[in-house]
Amino acid sequence: MLEIKNLNVHYGVIHALKDISLTVNAGEIVTLIGANGAGKTTTLRTISGLNKATSGEILLEGKNITGAAAPQRVEMGISQVPEGRRIFPAMSVFENLELGAFLRNDKAEIKKDMEMVFGRFPILGNRKKQTAGTLSGGEQQMLAMGRALMSRPRILLLDEPSMGLAPLLVREIFEIIKAINQTGTTILLVEQNASMALSIAHRAYVLETGSIVLSGTGEELAKSSEIQKAYLGGE
Ligand code: ATP
Repeated sequence: MLEIKNLNVHYGVIHALKDISLTVNAGEIVTLIGANGAGKTTTLRTISGLNKATSGEILLEGKNITGAAAPQRVEMGISQVPEGRRIFPAMSVFENLELGAFLRNDKAEIKKDMEMVFGRFPILGNRKKQTAGTLSGGEQQMLAMGRALMSRPRILLLDEPSMGLAPLLVREIFEIIKAINQTGTTILLVEQNASMALSIAHRAYVLETGSIVLSGTGEELAKSSEIQKAYLGGE
């Protein structure tokens, strides 16, 4: 579904992504793990069109989208849940979700999707009119995910959904990610919580200072001694 070929990204003189290639097949959860500053966020932002590639290609279902603007990519089915949620704190839960559908004008279908989001995240349904800034961290993460789902993505890009959440909530968010995937949405998940990410991922890539150094199934990487040492707190 998504293919990245020899992608390079620079911030001025900083070479943030060095010739990375990866694929995400339809129906998969693929995770990208790596330390702080490895280039995970840059990868997602380049896929969603928020950062520019210096060279390389991004293909969505075989179509080269490397030059497409970010809103166009949303229309094509790519939706990102940014690091730190980036919800609109002064607006209501309902208004935040409506914004997720800003490129659509199929009102009846939007209403249906809003119900789907409330089914998936009942707490958001109970707090429809509440100002989003007053939600807890976990609820804000749910809102950010709900907002992304409102664009009916074919592929959902999730940047550090577990960040700042208590362990019990992290588990809940990961269960929801699995459920979203099981209803047909392909997922590319960036995480520092490698053990949780590998436990739900079909496949994984490890990014180190801008390069992909390892890849395999989630299960293989979770068992790898290199990964255990570097990312899972093992000896
Ligand atoms: P984190 O978990 O901290 O978000 P990351 O793996 O997502 O880390 P990136 O944020 O993609 O890493 O950063 C990759 C590299 O690019 C780092 O060296 C970082 O300092 C640099 N970088 C990121 N954003 C910018 C920017 N806007 N300007 C300059 N350098 C940047």
